[in-house]
Amino acid sequence: MAVRVVFLGGLGEIGRNCACVEIDDRMLLIDCGIMFPDPDMHGVDLVLPDFEYLRENADRIEGVVLTHGHEDHGGGLAFLLAEVGPIPIYGSALSLGLARNRIEEAGLLDRTELIPVQDGERRHIGPFDCQFIPVTHSVPHGFATAIHTPAGTILHSGDFKIDQSPVDGRVTDLALIGEIGRRGVRLLLSDSTNAEDPGHTPSESSVGMVMRELFREHAGRRVIAACFASHIHRIQQIAEAAIGSGRSIAFLGRSMQQNVRLVRSMGLLDLPDESLVDIDEIHRFEPGQICVICTGSQGEPMSALALMAAHENHRIKLGPDDTVIISAHPIPGNESNVSRVIGGLHRAGADVVHSGLVPVHVSGHANQEELKFLLNLVKPEYFVPVHGEYRHLVHHARLARSTGMPEERVIICEDGDSLLMTPDGIDVERRFAPAGYLYVDGIVGDVGRGVLKDRRALAAEGIVVVIVTIDGHTGEIVTGPEIVTRGWIHAPEADLLLEEAKDAVRRSLTEAIDEGAMDFETMRRHARSGLQKFINSRTKRRPIIVPVVMEV
Ligand SMILES: [Zn+2]
Ligand SMILES: [Zn+2]
Repeated sequence: MAVRVVFLGGLGEIGRNCACVEIDDRMLLIDCGIMFPDPDMHGVDLVLPDFEYLRENADRIEGVVLTHGHEDHGGGLAFLLAEVGPIPIYGSALSLGLARNRIEEAGLLDRTELIPVQDGERRHIGPFDCQFIPVTHSVPHGFATAIHTPAGTILHSGDFKIDQSPVDGRVTDLALIGEIGRRGVRLLLSDSTNAEDPGHTPSESSVGMVMRELFREHAGRRVIAACFASHIHRIQQIAEAAIGSGRSIAFLGRSMQQNVRLVRSMGLLDLPDESLVDIDEIHRFEPGQICVICTGSQGEPMSALALMAAHENHRIKLGPDDTVIISAHPIPGNESNVSRVIGGLHRAGADVVHSGLVPVHVSGHANQEELKFLLNLVKPEYFVPVHGEYRHLVHHARLARSTGMPEERVIICEDGDSLLMTPDGIDVERRFAPAGYLYVDGIVGDVGRGVLKDRRALAAEGIVVVIVTIDGHTGEIVTGPEIVTRGWIHAPEADLLLEEAKDAVRRSLTEAIDEGAMDFETMRRHARSGLQKFINSRTKRRPIIVPVVMEV
């Protein structure tokens, strides 16, 4: 029996996590997430895994296991259902609840069945014998997943840390992991996010103490605290500290309000009704009696916090009576947005507390000592680091070797690689499946690499349009060439240069006509190459050149 693992995303970047486990001709997906775009992906809203392999094998897919409720794991599910077809999704009730919104907004709920599984549950999904193991992370009710296959057990850690005093008391089930390890784990796939960070990640509950301290220190001031809308334990701790200092709580931001409604209905956020006020009622309270918990901890441009910083939030106007607490670290790529927001908050007169000043945030991922602990607990035959940029994977592999794992059993894979598990061992097949970036722009699907290349060139070099009208019979130039530019060159040097550029185009076209060219395509090509050569020699720039040739 052939067992295969195909990595479709998340190995080489933080985001768009997606793996496919195969037994014979059946497939089970683990997660389908999005990645947030880099600043040079102009106009791209998010990046998805490449769905080509899944589309080709759509009828073989048994289901998706959603390890937890974060967007980098479940944010791509709606696109998967739209692109690949109806697929059932398995996960904790909370993970499914968080994923449901996006699927519902896309109008695709009828394409899936959301099937909740319990902590520790063992369940067959087609030929896949799965076990769902509780782990602690920065969203509650996450799972590690063991899949018992004919070629041995695969253990996927999911995103995890080993928090010994989690806010909800639900610890990583080390006993169960140890038991599975003792029976033999063929292959461990484990979270590499913090593989470069020494020691242990502090417990989430340490943030609660810091928050209580802060609310004492800032008594009499209005407190606005921003955190991830899915970080329910953080919201719980901020709210408890605020209520403990005699404040009422208001929530701001669409996803924050949506998630709070969801988790309160599930009994996962302990918040007395009498402590809640509507965001539009907060002006009735003294500053020291109110705490607003909002979105925008990553500086997202349209978030509640970013709008406050830009004086564009019509619900909250900031002033010198305000303290803003940003209870998160910027995700790589978001640093400049967060920094801009912090600047705006200061300009508005507010006091700003962030993780660079006070420990108002701890990570949801395991540090080096926890990663080694898991490796030693599981004692896998083979290990592949997942969930991380390439550097994180390399460091995680190093950690595994430091625990005594033999060199050849620690395998660094990248997106698109596949593992074939046989009784003799595990073979790696590089670039087994297409795994390029799928760019999403607005509600439209793939933007395409070409479009993105153009946008980069436009941003870096500008555009030059050359317009010329020719006589359709003689091929002679009737009007033009006219040249219009944007973002290429600044006046006053421009005027002279543009005149010379027109001459260059004219020369190039005349040459073409002399050689007998009459058709548009040849004229266009000549207009472009003449201009390109001129611009390149005179300015050493490579703007996008668009030749427009018209006929009279
Ligand atoms: Zn996560
Ligand atoms: Zn993640």
